[in-house]
Amino acid sequence: MMFDHNSKEWNDWQWQLRNTLGVEQLRGLLPDWDFTDSAAVDAAFPVKVSPYYLELLCAPAASVALRRMCLPDRTELYDAGFPVDPFDENGRNNPLYGVKQRFSDRILVMASASCALNCRHCTRKGMLTSSDLLPVDALEQAVGFVIAQPAIREVLISGGDPLMLPDESVLRFVNAFTCIDQIDAVRLCSRMPVTLPMRLTRSLTERLAASGKLWVNTQFNHAAEITTQSAAACRLLVDAGIPVSNQSVLLRGVNDSVEEMFRLCAALQRIRVRPYYVFQCDPVAGIEHFRVERTRARSIEKQLAARIGGLAMPRFVEDLPGSEYKQPLI
Ligand code: SF4
Repeated sequence: MMFDHNSKEWNDWQWQLRNTLGVEQLRGLLPDWDFTDSAAVDAAFPVKVSPYYLELLCAPAASVALRRMCLPDRTELYDAGFPVDPFDENGRNNPLYGVKQRFSDRILVMASASCALNCRHCTRKGMLTSSDLLPVDALEQAVGFVIAQPAIREVLISGGDPLMLPDESVLRFVNAFTCIDQIDAVRLCSRMPVTLPMRLTRSLTERLAASGKLWVNTQFNHAAEITTQSAAACRLLVDAGIPVSNQSVLLRGVNDSVEEMFRLCAALQRIRVRPYYVFQCDPVAGIEHFRVERTRARSIEKQLAARIGGLAMPRFVEDLPGSEYKQPLI
């Protein structure tokens, strides 16, 4: 253990962010990882790991799987011919600065361009810039946009990770939409329960729950990410009355086996987080090495369904550019 887990600092999410480790520090701490070409990989998408997650990387169990998700890999530089932005999220078609709409019943609001940890498999790794965010003081425009389209009933607050913002800003984003009558649900998309669980405080979760319309979607990809602290963060959300769902990504060398998926889904159910989706890795530049062949993905899904009850069985889907809904793998 490198840090004192009982210290006040360790449990302070802002201290964790101030002490986030970059590629050079990680190279010194994890000499058994192959850092070849890491400067070029880091220039394309910076390597960033919270002290909390670093400790998971150092644990012997499953450390390679976890390392693959956050340490540089030279194959990220390989050009498989995939686009940077296949869903045109950063495109001219966005109705408003920082607002994206692919489906008629929901919009996505970009609230932050940064995260506590930069996932190497991130779909938005080549396009996360602060120039495409909805500033918190421009919320009125987005609210007007929603009211003008009565078919919109759901708002996703995403990024980056919206929980990188201070509490008051997060609450302003959430409350701006929960107070609109036509809105049935606001989804907060955050990987903080996994990468920086101390970000979920009792005071924040209770205030987030107040509207009764908030849902949290997170992304645990491996059972080793479910720790005492991440379980406590999810408990705060669930006990406050906020439904928590998990959207994993199927990642080669991380969770692409029936055994790993079973362990993950069972562990999620134990902490009352619903295994909701398993996404096929998107066809995005720089993440080709994580993609699992469709036939193998289907086989994992079938075998998993035979082993686990329906409540803990996620839907295996892929998001295809131009598609009107997430396509089932089977
Ligand atoms: S937390 Fe989400 S947005 Fe941030 S790097 Fe990971 S996958 Fe991408």
